[in-house]
Amino acid sequence: MRAPGTAPVRILATSGQESSGSRTARTREGVTFVLRQINVGVKSLADYHSIIARDLMTEIRELAHDLGDLRVCHVNATSFGGGVAEILYSLVPLMNDIGLHADWRVMFGREEFFNVTKAMHNALQGSPRIITAEEQRTFERYNLVNAGGLDGDYDVVIIHDPQPIGIRGNTSGLDSAKWIWRCHIDLSDPNPQVLEYLRPMIAGYDATVFHMPQYVPHGTIAPAVIIPPAIDPLTPKNMALSTEDAEYIVHQFGLDIERPLLLQVSRFDPWKDPLGVIDAYRIVAEQVPGVQLALVGSMATDDPEGWEFYNRTVDYADGDPNIYILSNLNNVGGIEVNAFQTQANAVIQKSIREGFGLTVTESLWKARPTIGGNTGGIPLQITDGSTGYLVDSPAECAERALEILRAPDAARAMARRGKEHVRAEFLTPRLLRDWLRLFTHLRQA
Ligand code: UDP
Repeated sequence: MRAPGTAPVRILATSGQESSGSRTARTREGVTFVLRQINVGVKSLADYHSIIARDLMTEIRELAHDLGDLRVCHVNATSFGGGVAEILYSLVPLMNDIGLHADWRVMFGREEFFNVTKAMHNALQGSPRIITAEEQRTFERYNLVNAGGLDGDYDVVIIHDPQPIGIRGNTSGLDSAKWIWRCHIDLSDPNPQVLEYLRPMIAGYDATVFHMPQYVPHGTIAPAVIIPPAIDPLTPKNMALSTEDAEYIVHQFGLDIERPLLLQVSRFDPWKDPLGVIDAYRIVAEQVPGVQLALVGSMATDDPEGWEFYNRTVDYADGDPNIYILSNLNNVGGIEVNAFQTQANAVIQKSIREGFGLTVTESLWKARPTIGGNTGGIPLQITDGSTGYLVDSPAECAERALEILRAPDAARAMARRGKEHVRAEFLTPRLLRDWLRLFTHLRQA
């Protein structure tokens, strides 16, 4: 019998998003595999001219000029579902447009690995469940194998989130590159066992990047930089959609466009609290008969818990004909998410823990009245009572939703302020600028 991790496996390219540039690598154990390279298409910074401030555009051009053709590689765990993939589909082509050579590679993992990384993710957000010694070995084995696939010539390697964090310590040949760990998770109250396990791996990085200062773990591990994420206003998900088009799309899913709609767009995950959203909807429905609720949630490939929680959510909805539970399996892609967000009377993101909450950014950018859980990155985006509402319970969420349904004009005025806040702080060009500043800094360090 072979020792775990030494079986010769060949993982063939399966996704339509992979480019022909995918690499084959051989690890020390002789494992051959393909580290997927994602084809991100083309974007042009010039297209953002009318949306962002001129100063920002100028700064990006100047920084890019000085960085020349810097070679950058992003590595994460999935090309589909969740905020990280969402960001990379915009950030990577824009980096290329301004003259850098940017790649995006997705690590290989099987369910046994993603079960561990999901538990790790939960633990880093505070869940008490530890990562067992056997799980640690699984985690390390996959990271070792993936490290073998990263043999390009890069000046900067950006590792996103914990899943590929161990690649840095297992890679040979990229010693002159600057290594950055980009953490998208709220680490303010982590399970100490898991953080201590990861700490030596984090220490190997030249810099770490977090959304907010509160997320930087206590105890110095590597220089920490704060860069909040952003949304791309020019993607099908966020571009301006007419009311008629939004109605047309939403109607195709069977919703009645004449009746009020509450919406949450989220992965099916307990931290996103879809059951709490259903509770809030039920309170609202007592006062506003006919109100509809849409729960739109994609199934990410690195989230094995998703199905289980999806089923729990469906059970909890208990056949209510006014609750619509939709996912990418119902063909809900970017334009459909846009339509639902554009059409909703109130957009909810009732998270209990939340790294940042791009769905909140997306909703505010569409000037929709937005209710967010008072947690993580959501208060960075919503000032309670000014640009939206922050809530701590289903009852509070219901109360705010009722306020929005009863006084839509006041709610829209608030949402328009939210949109301007997003324009100033949370659009992709600002994110691009922040990365360029960091690259410049690291090059001079
Ligand atoms: N998303 C989507 N379809 C869905 C559910 C989510 O496109 O059915 C997108 C959503 O629009 C957002 C991202 O996935 O862009 C989720 O990012 P967020 O920061 O809100 O949460 P995460 O999933 O990263 O915890």
